[in-house]
Amino acid sequence: MSSPWSPSSAEQWSEVGRLARLADLRRATGRRLEVLAEPLFETTNLRGRIENVIGAVRLPIGVTAPLRLTGSAAMGLFQVPLATTEGTLVLAVSRGAHAITTAGGAAVYASAPQLTRAPVFVFASHGAARAAAAWAAEHLDEIREVAGRTTRHGRLIAVEPWFIGRRLVLECVYDTGDAAGQNMVTFATDAACRWLREREPFSSALDYTIESNVSHDKKIAGMGVAVRRGRQVDAEVTLPAAVVREVLHTEPAAMARVALDGMRASVMSGAVGAQAQVANVVTALFLATGQDPATITECGTGMTVMDVTDDGDLYASVTLPRVVLGTVGGGTTLPAEQECLELLDCSGTGCATKLAEILGGAALAGELSVVAALASDTFAGAHAAFGRPANGRLRGIR
Ligand code: NAP
Repeated sequence: MSSPWSPSSAEQWSEVGRLARLADLRRATGRRLEVLAEPLFETTNLRGRIENVIGAVRLPIGVTAPLRLTGSAAMGLFQVPLATTEGTLVLAVSRGAHAITTAGGAAVYASAPQLTRAPVFVFASHGAARAAAAWAAEHLDEIREVAGRTTRHGRLIAVEPWFIGRRLVLECVYDTGDAAGQNMVTFATDAACRWLREREPFSSALDYTIESNVSHDKKIAGMGVAVRRGRQVDAEVTLPAAVVREVLHTEPAAMARVALDGMRASVMSGAVGAQAQVANVVTALFLATGQDPATITECGTGMTVMDVTDDGDLYASVTLPRVVLGTVGGGTTLPAEQECLELLDCSGTGCATKLAEILGGAALAGELSVVAALASDTFAGAHAAFGRPANGRLRGIR
């Protein structure tokens, strides 16, 4: 057998190779590794998803209470699967979902996707960089055609120039269909740039890198909440004061005050965005549905707003400007992840907007519940009751 560790070995994605790697690790560490040895899926299906596989980490998945949404794609009641080990999270989102559903549902909206790859070209001068940008703008249709040869579903929407002295960043913006699209935009931009680099003025570039960091792939930056990447998701609800009292055990004014104080502290501390626990909900839903969890740095950033209405009710909204997710490709093809997508009727083509809208609704539910817990001073008590193993209730915490 060739080395099971070699990426070119026939054993890299075989069950024989997986067991051989486990045997190597057992010899090296003296550990039994019995749980890792249990087969969870066909190793051959993991090609393109992971290398040197030895097993799988199992995460528990809980579902929320029914969440009523009225969106352009997500319409009806959804029990949202969340993969987490943070006790209280599923209960918290369920409580927020119950409040939303009792109030008649949240309105949700997800835009079309706009994913970017932003190569940088180094020219002899700023003037040369500007001339190249002008040339690229004149030849956009040809660049689009070359990029489009790499994908049936991706489409180059625009090429935006950025200048840093003599460096030209070409921010290439794509519609990625139902895919999250990071591979798609990489392959398409690579093809477009190879074509450009064979033509003047780009063939005169002194240097080139396929990603300048302007796309902020898996990074958050100052422009992170101002500039859209992936889908922008908005969710909003007006909770009657009676629902706030009965379900969330607090008052609209108390919740609006906590949300505003959180925003003030975010400004003072220089945080990007202002939200309470959006990252918890996004991460848990991403893990359950096979998204790339590293994108949480951008997808989990946004703005939560809570106002008291003229009628004394609570208006709440969540805005997430950089949601990168898919219902095809990536980890969505793994078996448990597929079933979680099927639970939401979100598996495959035509479902990514719907999944994004469900994410927005679930994030709003999480925000409502945690802000209510802070406003009613039950935040520590809830975690003491449900955030520790069975006997973990702490004295002195209510
Ligand atoms: P992918 O699995 O590489 O590609 C998506 C596939 O789905 C394509 O083959 C696409 O076909 C196909 N597809 C079928 N129906 C589609 C539809 N309705 N809409 C869109 N595509 C459809 O996934 P990806 O979304 O491009 O990339 C996500 C993966 O990239 C994740 O695993 C992530 O971890 C990884 N990633 C890569 C980079 C990078 O720089 N390369 C960076 C971060 C993350 P066509 O191509 O013919 O359209």
